[in-house]
Formats: sequence, C-alpha cells, structure tokens
Amino acid sequence: MLKQLHGASWEKIRDLHLDDECAICGDPDDLCLHHIIPILTGGTNDSYNLLTLCRQCHTRTEWYTREFTERHLVE
Ligand SMILES: [Zn+2]
Repeated sequence: MLKQLHGASWEKIRDLHLDDECAICGDPDDLCLHHIIPILTGGTNDSYNLLTLCRQCHTRTEWYTREFTERHLVE
C-alpha cells in the first residue's frame, strides 16, 4: 500500500515522472512507476529514484529487489 505524502499525492508524482515507454523493454502500454530504492528501505519519490516500467518488467524488477533486500539488508 502506497502512502500519501505531504503536499503532492502519489497520483500527481506519478503523472509528473511517468515516461512514454518502459525503460527496460520500450513497451508503451501498461506502464507504472518503479521505486529503484523501495520506500520501505529508505527510498524517496525523487526523480532519481523513479523508473518507468511496464507491468511485466516491474514485476520482474520487484522480485529481484525483494530478493536482494532480503539477502543483503535484512539479516
Ligand atoms: Zn518493460
């Protein structure tokens, strides 16, 4: 569940930063905004931490991020 931030809503941030195509495969459909550093591990909604991905690449990237986080940061 995404948290509401002070001032700008997540929808506003997403509209501001969302590109026309997936940064990995170039797919222009079904796009979402990915946090490179997850909010839970100290990431922010700044543009350097955000990446436009299609749903498929997002799912894959989230999986890698979770595996990395659990292996390296949680112990
Ligand atoms: Zn993609």
